[in-house]
Amino acid sequence: MAGTSYVFGPVPSRRLGYSLGIDLVPFKTCTYDCIYCQVGRTTKKTIKCEEFFPPEQILEEIKEKLSKTSPDFITFSGSGEPTLYSKIGELTEKIKKITDIKIALLTNGSLLWRKDIREKLSKIDLILPTLTTANEDTFRRIHRPHPELRLNNIIDGLIKFRKEYNGKIFLEVFILKGINDNKEELIPLRDVIEEIEPDKIQMNTAVRPPSEKDAVAVDMKRLEEIASFFGEKAEVIAYRQRVSKGVKGDKISHIVGIIKRRPVSAKDISDAMGIEIEEVHSIIKGLMIKGIISSFNHLNETYYILKEGKR
Ligand code: SF4
Repeated sequence: MAGTSYVFGPVPSRRLGYSLGIDLVPFKTCTYDCIYCQVGRTTKKTIKCEEFFPPEQILEEIKEKLSKTSPDFITFSGSGEPTLYSKIGELTEKIKKITDIKIALLTNGSLLWRKDIREKLSKIDLILPTLTTANEDTFRRIHRPHPELRLNNIIDGLIKFRKEYNGKIFLEVFILKGINDNKEELIPLRDVIEEIEPDKIQMNTAVRPPSEKDAVAVDMKRLEEIASFFGEKAEVIAYRQRVSKGVKGDKISHIVGIIKRRPVSAKDISDAMGIEIEEVHSIIKGLMIKGIISSFNHLNETYYILKEGKR
């Protein structure tokens, strides 16, 4: 993460309101290499937890950011799997000493079978893990996991975590057309989720540009049908508008900071920052001319990414 920071945003999030993101792993370090990943292909696939960065440095940046802004959540997320950060428990405790703002964790849930990791997450207020299937072959097809990971262990880990953990669990279910949107997939998945007992089930799909072309989104109508099949705890989070608050300060750096994390459209940026789309277009034009960003098309929308070597 040379030359960049650990903290990004706050950005409006569909699931967390106004969220200050904390990137705990180097780009792109993950236990999975999901075909729908919007961050791009995994370059370091691992299940080994490491102290990638000193917690004190991350904490300093959080303190500085909190002196200027007041997010709804401080969210461990970013360009990979945050539970790979070995100091996640210690960092959580340090943050709790400086603020009452709630802490959330976006995780793929793949390491929750490990007791030491479940313990490190116990003080986090809201955990948002992902589960897409109850079938090992489909799991491998969608997530291309580290070879030592097994779906049965991961599901057991989620069940155990629910029993031990006192905070809220919002389980994301990511649906892909032609892969896990049929009843042979959805019936066993619903059974397993009943055992996990999350507080909410949040239905998502590949509305943003995915890593691979065969990660195709289901439409809103189908996603709503699937949500009602999962019962009253389920809601659709894809296609949902984000809340926005006006961003003050250096807008160009803020836009580069957003584009750095994942491909975004001009409307995403305008929504995220609460500024007019015309202003976004004019800043984007400047960044394109300077060769800092480039564009591509996905589902009839133009997305912007940081050029190679600018990360
Ligand atoms: S979607 Fe999440 S879990 Fe999957 S590869 Fe991307 S960062 Fe990792």
